[in-house]
Amino acid sequence: MTDTHTTKRPLALLGLGDMGTVLARTWLAADHPLTVWNRTAAKAEALAPEGARVAATPAEAVASAGLIVLCLLDDSTVGSVLEGLDLTGKDVVNLTTGTPAEGRARAAWAAERGARFVDAGIMGTPAMVGAPDGGAYVLYSGSLPLFEEHRATLEVPAAARFVGEDAGHAALYDVALLSAMYGLFGGISHAFALIEGEDVAPKELAPLLSEWLGAMGFFVGSTAERLTSRDFTSGVVSNLAMQVAASGTLLRTAADQGVSPELISPYLDLMRERLEADPAAHGGEDTAGALTLLHRRSR
Ligand code: NDP
Repeated sequence: MTDTHTTKRPLALLGLGDMGTVLARTWLAADHPLTVWNRTAAKAEALAPEGARVAATPAEAVASAGLIVLCLLDDSTVGSVLEGLDLTGKDVVNLTTGTPAEGRARAAWAAERGARFVDAGIMGTPAMVGAPDGGAYVLYSGSLPLFEEHRATLEVPAAARFVGEDAGHAALYDVALLSAMYGLFGGISHAFALIEGEDVAPKELAPLLSEWLGAMGFFVGSTAERLTSRDFTSGVVSNLAMQVAASGTLLRTAADQGVSPELISPYLDLMRERLEADPAAHGGEDTAGALTLLHRRSR
């Protein structure tokens, strides 16, 4: 970055938990004029030697800069911290994790107060944020003019990806990615549980598991294509009928090993339900067809 100190615009950061503190340090290290506020003042004061200006109240922090960054526990904390403050003409960037509905409601709330607003989802841990090549990035959605104006500043701690002007979309992408992660964690946990008590060290399984999960990553792109075309049968190499039959092996092995199937059975049940609804129509499908059942369940 070629900015000099004088061209870097001041920002205020409210919330100095594990994530907020790392964010603050990356902006300070990059020589950005930064005002910080935190409920527990000691965390803010600890940053003063690194160049942070410490605000005594949220109002003082908000008044100090045009760009207001929030990294608080949750959306209700954002509401309570900013309650009654004058946000007229401010640019508010909310790095606090929330739901899509909360992102949209907070955007409307900010607009009513005369502020531009961008919601965000941090994809990374504090250790990844601010570390060179740490791999973290932040999803942003909402006001594109705000994002473009402050992009260079926002990219100091982590790469920035703007995913649309619907303020709910950053949270939607964030939750979609995290939900997929937990499904993956569930499968990995089941795999390790299967070998416990056998003469197999976890470190022997680990490289094979990593390699296999990488190879199965094709399912992301192929599912996206099938959902777009609504064609679940063309070019299928491992059809649903075969996979449902094979799933019995997974369940019997889990039973033999004394392992609960609870982490994998929901997906296997969904495949079976799709097949049993119409074996002739669905037996030749890819398993991606099974996910069409999910929406019906939640409505
Ligand atoms: P922490 O629990 O470490 O920090 C929470 C922050 O919220 C602190 O600044 C805390 O203040 C403040 N806070 C909590 N309750 C209140 C309240 N009632 N009034 C005022 N301030 C309050 O969380 P993180 O810093 O880890 O996370 C912050 C946000 O970042 C969350 O939305 C989280 O989901 C998100 N995030 C975190 C990741 C992580 O790995 N840590 C990864 C991706 C996103 P105080 O210091 O006084 O307690």
